[in-house]
Amino acid sequence: MKVREVSIDAPPALVHAPWRAAFPWLIQGCTTRGPEPERPFDLGLFSDASPARHVLEHWQRLRAATGQTRVVHAQQVHGANVRFHLPGPPGLHICETCDGHVTAEAGVLVGVSTADCVPIFVVDPKKRAVAALHAGWRGAASGVLERGLEVMQESVGSDPARIHLHLGPAICGDCYEVGSEVFEALEQPVPANPAPIDLRAVLAQRAVDAGVAQDQITVSEHCTRCGESGLFSHRGGDRERQVGYIGIRA
Ligand SMILES: [Zn+2]
Repeated sequence: MKVREVSIDAPPALVHAPWRAAFPWLIQGCTTRGPEPERPFDLGLFSDASPARHVLEHWQRLRAATGQTRVVHAQQVHGANVRFHLPGPPGLHICETCDGHVTAEAGVLVGVSTADCVPIFVVDPKKRAVAALHAGWRGAASGVLERGLEVMQESVGSDPARIHLHLGPAICGDCYEVGSEVFEALEQPVPANPAPIDLRAVLAQRAVDAGVAQDQITVSEHCTRCGESGLFSHRGGDRERQVGYIGIRA
């Protein structure tokens, strides 16, 4: 099901409104560039687009605005490593490289950075566990979505059939033209020439194949490249990063 997230100011973000209504204990969103063009709300700790002190301040703002005590992030490598996070000291925690985070602890916010790639948000309302996963085509092909579901199953006993999954703001199927190697890696019919691919549609199908119920999968209509969503786009020339964040209210 296609949905359009709603805009909030603190932090500047797009949030998935149906989840907001259904799960009052949940904190979820995807940050945007915010209202200050001269100082965009860049959370890219590894992309060197903004002064490091600005980026760290932005993480602090994200933590404060969401009311969480601990924020967990990692340098991402387009792989399928997903880490489970227990409670820890307050503040920003950068863990070892990985492309996904799972937690069941209230007060812990986990986040993945993107700028065209897909932020995947996962909620298990029964076990009160959440995940944020980062999926570009390489991560999708290496199975980061399936690994995220496995880690939830192993760590808290999440049943994929009870999972709610949202594919957040990312480059759309019209804007994302790729070569044959991408179609091959994603096991899609390979076109003769470079052609557009809808990565979120591919991921939605992979989620169904992994046991997630179709009617519990939602897909954002926002595109990072086209439209006026206020998102950073790597293909659009941005080096800054937004963050897809999720957590259980402190
Ligand atoms: Zn687009």
